[in-house]
Amino acid sequence: MPKADLVLLHPPSVYDFRKKASMYGPISDVVPSTPIFEMYPIGFMTIANYLKKHGYSVRIVNVALRMLKSRRFDVERLIKSLNPLAFGIDLHWLPHAQGSLELAKIIKKYHPQAPVIFGGISASYYHQELILYPEVDYVIRGDSAEEPLRQLLETIRKRGPLKDVPNLTWQDDGSGVRVNEFSYVPPDLDNLSFDYRSVMRSSAQYKDLTGHLPFRGWFNYPIVAVLPWRGCIHNCLTCGGGAHAYKNICGRNLPAYRNPRLVAEDIALISHYLKGPIIIQGDIRQAGDSYVETLLSEIKSKRISNHIALELFRPTSREFLEMIAGSISNFNIEISPDSHDEEIRKAIGRAYANKSLERTIEDALELGCKRVDLFFMIGLPRQTPHSVQETLEYCETLLKEYTKNGSTRVHPYISPLAPFLDPGSQAFENPEKYGYRLFYKTLEEHRQALLTPSWKYMLNYETNWMSRDELVTSTYKAALQLNRLKVEYGLLRQREGNIMEARIKEAMSLMHRIDNILLIKDEQIRANRMNRLRTRFPSLNNSTICKKKELRWPVNSSRFNFLRILRAALRG
Ligand code: SF4
Repeated sequence: MPKADLVLLHPPSVYDFRKKASMYGPISDVVPSTPIFEMYPIGFMTIANYLKKHGYSVRIVNVALRMLKSRRFDVERLIKSLNPLAFGIDLHWLPHAQGSLELAKIIKKYHPQAPVIFGGISASYYHQELILYPEVDYVIRGDSAEEPLRQLLETIRKRGPLKDVPNLTWQDDGSGVRVNEFSYVPPDLDNLSFDYRSVMRSSAQYKDLTGHLPFRGWFNYPIVAVLPWRGCIHNCLTCGGGAHAYKNICGRNLPAYRNPRLVAEDIALISHYLKGPIIIQGDIRQAGDSYVETLLSEIKSKRISNHIALELFRPTSREFLEMIAGSISNFNIEISPDSHDEEIRKAIGRAYANKSLERTIEDALELGCKRVDLFFMIGLPRQTPHSVQETLEYCETLLKEYTKNGSTRVHPYISPLAPFLDPGSQAFENPEKYGYRLFYKTLEEHRQALLTPSWKYMLNYETNWMSRDELVTSTYKAALQLNRLKVEYGLLRQREGNIMEARIKEAMSLMHRIDNILLIKDEQIRANRMNRLRTRFPSLNNSTICKKKELRWPVNSSRFNFLRILRAALRG
């Protein structure tokens, strides 16, 4: 097996979830991964491609997915067998707080001298706390780790001065924590490669297909994301990826855009090998009219047949939808109204009226949109349990309207804002101002929260309008109602609806039982009862409140061009 200079490890959210599961609940029901959050950040690929271009060999190991796929997969054995110049671990999403640090400990157990490097948005936010853990040697801050990481590897190899590495936080034996200048903030993404063929080649080179896959079930649903930029011009109240947060965490005043021609080429390259859906992340309108026109005309010229999903931050004009329909033969859209209540929507930073939302849905459907996904949320400012009920009524109104001709192209979802309000978001930084109460603030508090027995105790907040208990109860009640509506309006078969309803009710009952066990004073009895109950958690930890398959964008009948993939993988 070739030796890699850098091994990038993607951790599970909690180590070891296989031995001590919690009731993770619906925290990942509306994203492709499981609650273990086995999907690694797209940055792993751009880092690997960048470093390879500069002469370094990089191996990606999706430890979380390998653990999910096999109970017998021995993490320690794998890590022991590796001997790179350095290990990299992502702490991009905060739910990896526990798993990432446990992986770092295992590395130090077998390779005490090997440098352990952390990166990602959460690592950047918590860099000063993270560096104090003895298993962490370096933290690369910001949204563009590629070049700082290259410089760090060179410095490690040549034993050069660490003070010259941009965006680095490290410990100097003599003078404690050192925070290097945030001097590397590239203005665009044009020198990055989003070439997924490198991942195919790497999986052949290291004979590790699973370790390179993005999430469980990807072969059945090979969705691929395209990233036109890093950063955002909006400021949704609870989002850690908004403009304010990016400025503070990543030192970025404006998003770094990728040339739209390159984005279209990224899409064409994916389409050459894979026929699964492609999601363009973020609302393309944020880059301005000329960006949109170039991107769409380039996509049109490439005659992509894959289903392409576009995110809309707010409703849009018919002209914009006509441009999309004229450029993308199979287009889908998703939009997050969050609440039916326009005041609540305004409070989180998305001020628009239901009327304009409905007009956008109607226009999209008329213009041939294959599917419209609508995401509603629980855990918003001013939102009460009653308001959640009204959101369900609104969902019914929409379903009634848009399933009139037997069409099932409009899909509403509702899920809790869980498990964490994003650090760096306005609501996290000023909770009282926006009606939030935070239970956890530090990295260590979040790490420990992930070990609690249910998602109710993991939640790092409650609101002035809903306690943690009400957030949980409202979530399950809403899930039951929406599930019934989906059966009634033909989005789900009766049998699927019945299975889902039984799962939701069992989850509700287990949540009550966990609460009761936690009231037991005797520690030993409490632990024994909880351990007995834990055996039932894993079967309910996926598709908790909605069926994961419901979320799938349409997929072409043949999902892969195997011959082309094989050629790309073997090209080396
Ligand atoms: S949720 Fe809002 S602030 Fe966050 S990335 Fe999306 S549009 Fe930007």
